[in-house]
Amino acid sequence: MLIGALEAGGTKMVCAVGREDGTILEQMSIPTTTPEETLPKIVSYFKDKEIQALGVAAFGPVDLDPSSDTYGYILNTPKLAWRNKDLLGGLKELGVPMGLDTDVNGSCLGEMTYGCAKGLDSVIYLTIGTGIGVGVGINGRPLHGMLHPEGGHILLNIHRDDPKGCICPNHANCFEGLACGPSIEARWGRKAAELADRAEVWELESYYIAQALTDFIMILSPRRIILGGGVMHQEQLFPLIRAKVKEMIGGYLDTRELKDMDSYIVPASLHDDQGIMGCIKLGLDALEQAG
Ligand code: ADP
Ligand code: ZN
Repeated sequence: MLIGALEAGGTKMVCAVGREDGTILEQMSIPTTTPEETLPKIVSYFKDKEIQALGVAAFGPVDLDPSSDTYGYILNTPKLAWRNKDLLGGLKELGVPMGLDTDVNGSCLGEMTYGCAKGLDSVIYLTIGTGIGVGVGINGRPLHGMLHPEGGHILLNIHRDDPKGCICPNHANCFEGLACGPSIEARWGRKAAELADRAEVWELESYYIAQALTDFIMILSPRRIILGGGVMHQEQLFPLIRAKVKEMIGGYLDTRELKDMDSYIVPASLHDDQGIMGCIKLGLDALEQAG
């Protein structure tokens, strides 16, 4: 059986066809311009592929409530061409059941289905890149709630030695505004990738990431935390984050998982295919629901 997968990102649309076991058979990318131009290109890619369903993981905020009038719409995104535009509606003519979630929930689902979070009843997936997104998986399903979690905008303490602070236009001290790639670049005046050997950069970065993780641990009790996104290519962050999380928990929790920090806070396990594989699972779930 063939399933279509669409990772709808702010800069590119990754379209793929795969099988139930998560194997990707073919893949291509289309630049994200306007909905009017981009959506028909996606439709024409999938039209002759004989897919049984389509799973879509989208940048947001996106309306995930099937009972809402604007289900499948991109909401008030800073990407103006897509603001209040009907993403899913533009793909309806494919005539197959469609499943939808956020990009980070999609990656979280990919890891829960095919990767390092299989069988775990609570897991979180973070992407730390141009922005920060947090996907939450509870009992094998992504958590939605009233909209979907926006864990990139939780409020944190600013470090007293932070030379710059928060760049979020909405918040004075949020996680994304303090720790996303563009924030690192605003603070230190260089591309994040060029700062690899500046210890103070990753010391501060790990301080913010560890604060956020400590909060998520206390609230969601995840069995595992998966960290992806461009900034996490700095692998020296992992030991710094693990040590600081341990310190910030302050001895309050004493679980089997926390005793083994190296397998508790981990990089994504599916070689950057976690997002597209999550879309396969979203398609499969939509097919099952459609009966
Ligand atoms: P996006 O979030 O747009 O999907 P990425 O996850 O690649 O894409 O994130 C891009 C951000 O990650 C940029 O701000 C960039 O500075 C940062 N980044 C990319 N590669 C690296 C790297 N090797 N080291 C540190 N930061 C990086
Ligand atoms: Zn914010």
